[in-house]
Amino acid sequence: MTLEQKTKLEKRIRKDLEKLGLPLDFKLDVRGYSKTYNGRYNPNNDTVVLYSLRKNGELREYDVLLKIVIHEVIHHYQWKHTDYKRVKGIMHNEEFKRLEQYYLDKAEELGLIDPIFRR
Ligand SMILES: [Zn+2]
Repeated sequence: MTLEQKTKLEKRIRKDLEKLGLPLDFKLDVRGYSKTYNGRYNPNNDTVVLYSLRKNGELREYDVLLKIVIHEVIHHYQWKHTDYKRVKGIMHNEEFKRLEQYYLDKAEELGLIDPIFRR
């Protein structure tokens, strides 16, 4: 992916997160393929890493990328915008699941994610 494509993608993602009312005070690091992860959140440097390519090198659908980013930004939201206390071994507590459901529903309602990309 070229720098220009990355910049365009990041702009679109940030615009959509803004529509959803999610926080934007994080750094986005768009990377290629990972066989282990779709995305990562690092609370030490407020960075969301997005693995944007499929194994065959193709860019994933925008809907899928946005869904991944929403998931990671909810981690950021919990860490930095609530009085979240991390319990060792539990990444996705009930509140996380509730928030993810809420924001994915909202993204679908706003037409940002096509229902076919929801699992
Ligand atoms: Zn997660």
